[in-house]
Amino acid sequence: MNETILIVEDEVATAEILADYLRLDSYTTHLLTDGLPVVSWAREHKPALILLDLMLPGKSGLDICKEIRAFSSVPIIITTARVEEIDRLLGLELGADDYICKPYSPREVVARVKTVLRRAAGTAVTPLEAGLQLDESCYRATLNGHDLQLTAAEFRLFNYLAAHPGRVYNRQQLLNNIYPDERALNDRAIDNYINKVRKKITAVSNECELIHSVYGVGYKFDVREEPGGQA
Ligand code: CA
Repeated sequence: MNETILIVEDEVATAEILADYLRLDSYTTHLLTDGLPVVSWAREHKPALILLDLMLPGKSGLDICKEIRAFSSVPIIITTARVEEIDRLLGLELGADDYICKPYSPREVVARVKTVLRRAAGTAVTPLEAGLQLDESCYRATLNGHDLQLTAAEFRLFNYLAAHPGRVYNRQQLLNNIYPDERALNDRAIDNYINKVRKKITAVSNECELIHSVYGVGYKFDVREEPGGQA
């Protein structure tokens, strides 16, 4: 199995530190510091995952992502120095698998790489394996057999997030998809619903954190992976 991680990053010092951490975890890395050769390199070498910076000489990460998605579903993690940029990118639905804001800790990036690779390989812990059952016919969510007693609105939100583990949604996307008719709702309403669902989860299992905040962006559903576990 090819475990080469393609790092596309024009800040060489940043890229080299990251490459060191990935190699410690037995990944092979390849670094491209210019955007121009990335698409053809990816086509030829079929990396296991691409860490893609947005602001690059030669060609933007945005264009690279679109071009690669035209022929490949290789996992792509976009890295950017601007949180607001992530919010805008989510709206474009580029098909990136995750977004990481710079400056980042290399450890965090390695953890995210592992999670995305596990998801791509179908070996990530599924909601069902985590003890979660969502019954859309009666809006009932149970965790390890305990009814979470969600309201209809809370269920819709939770069910929507859980349908795509790891995918990050901003508040506007959640509002549009879950409460299309409730124009009076603002972004804060999503935060309130999230807090209520989290409390109900904690009430039946304080081990389990399923909804994660993504700083400056929004929320995602993810089953916590084993800390330090090997893929
Ligand atoms: Ca850059």
